[in-house]
Amino acid sequence: MSKPTLGIIGGGQLGSMLATAAKKLGIRTVVFCDDIDSPAQKFSDNFIHGTYSDKEKINEFISKTDVITYEFENIPYETLNEINKTKPVLPKPSINRIIQHRLAEKDFINKLNIRTTQYVLITNKSEIDSVQNLLPGLLKTTTLGYDGKGQHLIDSIKDLNELDIDFSKGYILEKLVKIKKEISIIITRFSDKKYEIYEPIENVHEDQILKYSTIPAKINSKILEQSKSWAIHLAEELKYVGTLCVEFFIDKNENLYVNEVAPRVHNSGHLTINAYNISQFENHVRAVCGLEQIPLKKISNAKMVNLIGDQIIVYRNKQFEKNEFFFDYLKKDIKNKRKMGHLTTLIN
Ligand code: ADP
Ligand code: MG
Repeated sequence: MSKPTLGIIGGGQLGSMLATAAKKLGIRTVVFCDDIDSPAQKFSDNFIHGTYSDKEKINEFISKTDVITYEFENIPYETLNEINKTKPVLPKPSINRIIQHRLAEKDFINKLNIRTTQYVLITNKSEIDSVQNLLPGLLKTTTLGYDGKGQHLIDSIKDLNELDIDFSKGYILEKLVKIKKEISIIITRFSDKKYEIYEPIENVHEDQILKYSTIPAKINSKILEQSKSWAIHLAEELKYVGTLCVEFFIDKNENLYVNEVAPRVHNSGHLTINAYNISQFENHVRAVCGLEQIPLKKISNAKMVNLIGDQIIVYRNKQFEKNEFFFDYLKKDIKNKRKMGHLTTLIN
């Protein structure tokens, strides 16, 4: 059988790394993105520029691909569902619909008896009066948030009065956890009970944006086992195909919580490119294209640092050691808080 052509919706760095992994496997890629300057077009075989509701462009995309995946979750469900009528979309659009909505996502996780932070839906300001037990808390938009965007720290009702918030957009209030540590687990599921799971990654955020990811995570064996078993449970329950990331909090009392699930490859897994025989990107391509599942082998411990905004500039002119791997996302403009590249260092 000839290899399928993979369609990737979204053209940022995750799309670039998926396209690079596909190329290595001899799989052609077509990137679809609403940004004409999307960096992933430099790494893919073909690029289509259009909005996510442009039927004509979407049809062109469908006609040029055999299987479709996505690099970010905020694609309209209707678009994914329409595409899925003609060509398989993996992970399934119904999974994306749950996960792209913070309330549906947290309800789903809790139904599986997996712990999340305490949360409540807020549809107007006055409702916060009755849920003061969740303060201090974070008010988060139910949709379209990333890198801490759309989040407000609320210490007291007074803070709320000072903010101009349009509650009709949909918000949840989430109790603030006294975080000791954040970890993530990346798992690629191929089919029933067939998956490859990476060891937990320890993550440090600055300004709610991921800054450092390290393996091994310094965690106790109970957290190690619980986080892995929750990640497997979530992937199985969703009948997920592809790479999934589960973000966790560990509080000061060593309680584990699922923060959120990303139905895609994840920034914290960039170090898998150099630290494992098969990266999260290659595993995703293998799973969604129906290629062989190969057992994971760790090559080395590693640390990744995200290069944000103008931090990229010095790295572009730097000499690197043999154990250092620099990735420049080749984004057109440097912007404050924008992820511009990363450096992975393999450590013994
Ligand atoms: P995003 O969708 O923007 O990634 P997250 O919900 O993952 O949003 O929040 C981003 C970061 O903000 C988290 O990784 C964590 O550092 C911090 N954060 C989010 N929710 C909480 C919480 N309930 N308690 C403490 N810190 C939080
Ligand atoms: Mg997050």
